Amino acid sequence: MMRLRPATVISILGLAVIAAAIKQGLGYQDTPILPGTKWHVHDGNRPQPRVVTPGYYGSAPSDAKILFGGTDLSAWRGDGANGPVNWIAKDGSAQVNGGAITTKESFGDCQLHVEFASPYPGRGAGQGRGNSGIFLMERYEIQVLDNFGNQTYPDGQATAIYGQTPPLVNASRRPGDWQTYDIFWTAPVFEGEKLVSPAYVTVVHNGVLVQNHTEVRGPTTHRGITPYSAHPARLPISIQDHGDPVRFRNIWIRDLPASDRS
Ligand code: MG
Repeated sequence: MMRLRPATVISILGLAVIAAAIKQGLGYQDTPILPGTKWHVHDGNRPQPRVVTPGYYGSAPSDAKILFGGTDLSAWRGDGANGPVNWIAKDGSAQVNGGAITTKESFGDCQLHVEFASPYPGRGAGQGRGNSGIFLMERYEIQVLDNFGNQTYPDGQATAIYGQTPPLVNASRRPGDWQTYDIFWTAPVFEGEKLVSPAYVTVVHNGVLVQNHTEVRGPTTHRGITPYSAHPARLPISIQDHGDPVRFRNIWIRDLPASDRS
């Protein structure tokens, strides 16, 4: 008879236990309650995460709202209360022109995907090279800049929380190449005028983690520090016109409602 090594026996026993658990249901009810929840460890009755079909490169997942898919800027308004959008949509992208654009819809916690290409050939230096920016809630800027071989103050470079926190690394591509930002935003929480919880942001730049659950200190300011000021739980997203013809494409967003956290 074949002799099984102890490790093999343990593996087989482990698989048998798992198989038995699957037969009984999805999990366990005789395990400790996880503190702060009503769920047992491995509780099979805990709600299943919603199924989302992931996107391939450049396309959005099934539950995303498309903010700009290549031709239609109707999800946006221009400067002013309801100003026209002057950005130039052609060849599948939209080029900065004639003021910022702002979403007509408001958002709180969200996952935001943005692709951009810095002007090619690159012109200017420091903050004057391919400058734009993603303003969460119209006031917290994740910087867009051409930082490929272009230095500036670190808290003002691409994917910096502008004026506050530099990215962990500089993952910039060459001007003219398409770059991706994946921004995971946790909105600040206020009770009346009081700040209960600051905003946090995680940013992945071209597949590289550059902001890792970084605390946002307050709204974006140039050459200063501004404390938080209470605002609604949901606000629009703006993209900055800083005078440089940066192009954008494939902008989509996923709302992250509290109801998805079970
Ligand atoms: Mg900017």
